[in-house]
Amino acid sequence: MRTLGLVGGMSWYSTSEYYRVINEGVQRARGGHTSARIALQSLDFSEIRDCQRAGDWQRAGALLGEAAQRCEAAGAETVLICTNLMHKVAPAVAQRIGVPLLHIADAIADQAEAEGWRTLGLIGTQWVMEEDFYTERLRERGLQVLVPEQVDRVEADRVIFDELTQGVVREGSRAAFVRMVTELGNRGADAVVLGCTEIELLVRPSDVAVPLLDSMRAHAEAAVTFALRDIEGVNP
Ligand code: GLU
Repeated sequence: MRTLGLVGGMSWYSTSEYYRVINEGVQRARGGHTSARIALQSLDFSEIRDCQRAGDWQRAGALLGEAAQRCEAAGAETVLICTNLMHKVAPAVAQRIGVPLLHIADAIADQAEAEGWRTLGLIGTQWVMEEDFYTERLRERGLQVLVPEQVDRVEADRVIFDELTQGVVREGSRAAFVRMVTELGNRGADAVVLGCTEIELLVRPSDVAVPLLDSMRAHAEAAVTFALRDIEGVNP
């Protein structure tokens, strides 16, 4: 089994979900006491948040890149950045390591392709919904991307940073996210990407009629596939 490198802590609420989903996937495949080989670098999110607020993406890239290097030095054969937003600095991170970066948007595109979904709604932080680094990568795979109206983009961003990444789950916010998902479905989305790794703590598939594509789960499952793939690239 190959060793996975996780750059997490952004926030730790979702990193603990990555840890659980990856280990569950590996154990389901191999049974017994099998658990995943993981090199985890869990960052202090307050430092990363300061970089975001200051727009200092260069420093953020260096902090994540150094963490990825520590994962590699600990034996990681791939590295995952355990947040959608911080893929904004994915090129800077990839440049610092000699192993592949398992990009979250690729995991999402792979799942959309497997399901036959062509048009995806996307809810996440404003950077994810409004900038190109993430949506372009999905569009390059032939996917159409729909995002909520501006007032809802602001509200989704607020809920992510004021609540979810601090471990706060509110009924009112759940209702707002359910409405956003439903509206994206009404506008033609085949599925809605929960494009922030904490949203699955708030909205469950049973809350909505539109299929959900949870970025944390898609990314963690891609990591399981990588870990279990044998050297010829054949899955068990
Ligand atoms: N976990 C969130 C995401 O997936 C946002 C937290 C962050 O990285 O700032 O985008």
